Amino acid sequence: MFTRKHVAVFVDGCFWHGCPIHATYPKSNTGYWLPKLARNIERDRETDAELKDRGWRVVRVWEHMPPADAADMIEEALTKASGHSR
Ligand SMILES: [Zn+2]
Repeated sequence: MFTRKHVAVFVDGCFWHGCPIHATYPKSNTGYWLPKLARNIERDRETDAELKDRGWRVVRVWEHMPPADAADMIEEALTKASGHSR
């Protein structure tokens, strides 16, 4: 979290947050897993919307991302955020 610039950073797990590349849905017990995973993703979107309403910039990084790419994304968000806050 970068509170001064209002940038919220999340690192999302590929399985739990439905990564577009690695989202592999469990083949057994789907009645349990599918609603659970869907609710996780839904809650992520709600969190995003709530933070954006309050003027936060939300950066979501997948756990599979190389740290250098994640750092670039965060840096870009911070740059943009500082441009808006004055
Ligand atoms: Zn992934």
